[in-house]
Amino acid sequence: MQSPPSLLSWRSGALPTRPNQSLQPTRGSASTSGIEMEFLLDQKRCSKCGLSQFGFWTSSSSGRVARYCVPCRNARRETYNDRKIQNGGSHTRAQWLAKLAACDKCPRCDRAWSEVPPRPNKRYRNTWTKDHIIPLFRGGSDDISNIQPLCYQCQFRKNAGA
Ligand SMILES: [Zn+2]
Ligand SMILES: [Zn+2]
Repeated sequence: MQSPPSLLSWRSGALPTRPNQSLQPTRGSASTSGIEMEFLLDQKRCSKCGLSQFGFWTSSSSGRVARYCVPCRNARRETYNDRKIQNGGSHTRAQWLAKLAACDKCPRCDRAWSEVPPRPNKRYRNTWTKDHIIPLFRGGSDDISNIQPLCYQCQFRKNAGA
């Protein structure tokens, strides 16, 4: 696979040149090293792909802001979609809504959706999530028979392997 040109130019342009740096008087060194520290932090690279294109997200369970690698996230998303196609099955939005309507509580923790604390990230208004009963990465299909609503906390625990 060919790297997109924007990525290449980003990589080659990543190191800013500061030609006057060696001419700075010594008394300026404190602030200079501060800038260099920031620069080093900015250049922290992903341990998987070696790039440093990070995005930020707020954890729905803890509310903490965490960093993620954008290229690796995109690769994971591609893998996810590939698996979905490979594993077969599909469901409509109507099928999903019918399933959700028939389920007034989380099948795993038995709490009603309204009993689950609201998600820290206000972007997500619902406490339920769409869960693949057999995960896609284990070959589960996208058929409605493999879909269930699950509260976000159980979903999180399930994904964490608990
Ligand atoms: Zn990465
Ligand atoms: Zn639950």
